[in-house]
Amino acid sequence: MTTSPVARMHAITDETRTIVDMVLDYSRARLVSEDTPLDKPLAAAELSRLAGRTIDEDGIGARKALGIFEHVLAPACITTDDPRYLSFIPSAPTKAAAAFDLVVSASALYGGSWLEGAGAVHAENEVLRWLAAEFGLPNGAGGVFVQGGTLGNLSALVAAREAARARLQEAGATRPDRWKIVCSVEAHSSIASAARVMDVDVVGVRVQDDGMLRGDAVREALDEHGDSVFAVVATAGSTNFGIVDDIASIADAVAGTGVWLHVDGAYGLAAMLSPRTRDRFAGVEHADSLVVDPHKWLFAPFDACALIYRDPELGRRAHTQHAEYLDTLTETSDWSPSDFAAHLTRRPRGLPLWFSLATYGAAVYREAITASIDLAQRIADEIERRPELTLVRRPQLGVVVFERVGWEKADYTAWSTRLLDAQHAFVTPSSHAGRTNARFAILNPRTTYDDLVGILDTMAGTAV
Ligand SMILES: *Cc1c(COP(=O)(O)O)cnc(C)c1O
Repeated sequence: MTTSPVARMHAITDETRTIVDMVLDYSRARLVSEDTPLDKPLAAAELSRLAGRTIDEDGIGARKALGIFEHVLAPACITTDDPRYLSFIPSAPTKAAAAFDLVVSASALYGGSWLEGAGAVHAENEVLRWLAAEFGLPNGAGGVFVQGGTLGNLSALVAAREAARARLQEAGATRPDRWKIVCSVEAHSSIASAARVMDVDVVGVRVQDDGMLRGDAVREALDEHGDSVFAVVATAGSTNFGIVDDIASIADAVAGTGVWLHVDGAYGLAAMLSPRTRDRFAGVEHADSLVVDPHKWLFAPFDACALIYRDPELGRRAHTQHAEYLDTLTETSDWSPSDFAAHLTRRPRGLPLWFSLATYGAAVYREAITASIDLAQRIADEIERRPELTLVRRPQLGVVVFERVGWEKADYTAWSTRLLDAQHAFVTPSSHAGRTNARFAILNPRTTYDDLVGILDTMAGTAV
């Protein structure tokens, strides 16, 4: 039987089988590889030269395209699950989660509606319910896995403003000229980004030396700005330092005001699963909404943020899209994940986490998170022992920030570049209060104490 040129891309032919085999072989090798190099970026011109032109009318063929990916493109991407990737927030998907991501794609699953994806949505919802219970939210709490914390925070804040609008309208009160969000000046940049998108203002509240936002400061801001405040954002683990705001006192300040409490736990809220740090998050149970990124400390592949509402109906009210072609979906009371955030088409990106949790059980997640917290303490002790280093703050979670005595910004940058050039580690400089520093974000269970000590050793000499 001959295959028409058009059918070629979708028909099950020998060519198709070969392509699928090549891609799965590559994926299998990568998933079980013990020595994937750290790799590093190349300049665009260099990549153009090495990769050549890959898109033309006839196609270059799967073998050649995969070869270019393997030998040119992939090596120009930093291996984010490398144990010595310690910058920003690393990624460390479990093997089960990463492997199952292939299944999500292979199955062409649609995760936007119950009608189309009931089975997938059911499994995602079980994970969301489990997380909600861990965080102390009541039965009935729920939400959706969105692309990332930025979109999760935005979607939650849009729901918060919608709720405030409804509340003021019911009370016959007038709308404020400008809506406002109250948060710490240390809150993640995505809160300011959400405010820009929504055209609302951010009231940045100053914090004490320990970096924690507290209820008294929030109460003052609420008194000063009154009805124009529609949301207070508490950070459950700042990205720079892993600092957890005093959520209980913030919840206290918000209680009874009608203002929405959102907890941004994109990085840190996962640490509530560890008995070591669980108590730091007291008060989360009062949140009207929260986010935590499984692609960070819950060991899921990119990209997944769990957005959970105390009352999902408020999320649905703010976000459901209405259109004639969607009437079949929106005229039912089915649980459709599209309804709970600023999105429509979605892959069921919570499934890799579901599969991994089902495979390994929750206990080993708690242990893995606890191990990173303990490792952060241990390396902080070592930093304090070294005369050439200064610990900027005792770590609360898995982020360790320290300075090299006598170094300027250029020294940190040169050191960081050398580490990556030598394929030793990926540690980018950070800064605090105008001073450059070095920062370890520890969450990969394969990161060892010796890895970290080896990096500290490279800072010992005087010459950079
Ligand atoms: C990472 C992070 C975000 C943003 O999440 P993305 O998934 O990168 O969009 C928001 N808030 C905090 C505290 C974070 O650590």
